[in-house]
Amino acid sequence: DEYSRKALSSKKERTLGIIKPDVCDKFSQILEAIYDRGFKVTKMKMCQLSRSEAGQFYQEHQAKSFYNGLIQFMSSGPVIAFELIGEGAILNWRALIGPTDSATARSEAPASLRARFGTDNTRNACHGSDSEQSATREIEFFFPSKGVKRRSTATFTDCTLCV
Ligand code: GDP
Ligand code: MG
Repeated sequence: DEYSRKALSSKKERTLGIIKPDVCDKFSQILEAIYDRGFKVTKMKMCQLSRSEAGQFYQEHQAKSFYNGLIQFMSSGPVIAFELIGEGAILNWRALIGPTDSATARSEAPASLRARFGTDNTRNACHGSDSEQSATREIEFFFPSKGVKRRSTATFTDCTLCV
């Protein structure tokens, strides 16, 4: 699957990562893993999402049973969102974060960020875009480009580090 496959692509890609509210205090360890893997961090923002912003970000999961819990969690505290650039960055970042369920990550990908820092299926430490199309939408969501009509109505509440 995508987690065990090594990215064969030598294409330079950009992707969107999020340090979720459960692991803001693991920021430095996660950033270290990112640089160790050779990604470049090209944009970064700390903010707290409203419920509606979190809902907009995860709109494709609206019909899922875990949606309300996910939105509640994602708006419960600060997140750190960043753009990563690197060769095969989309797949490589997904490989570094590991499988969605933190317990699965601990058994199948013990070095992954979700294995190291995640708690369960929802509180799983990090987000990563799953395709080029998602990456484009998600980067635009957090870092709207100037001069383009904004597709996102997100306002982003600036916040200081969660303590
Ligand atoms: P991802 O791409 O690996 O983040 O997984 P998805 O896009 O499928 O789901 C988005 C997020 O919803 C995940 O990162 C989890 O935080 C949460 N989630 C996904 N699947 C489940 C599930 O089966 N149960 C629960 N409680 N949360 C889930
Ligand atoms: Mg996903």
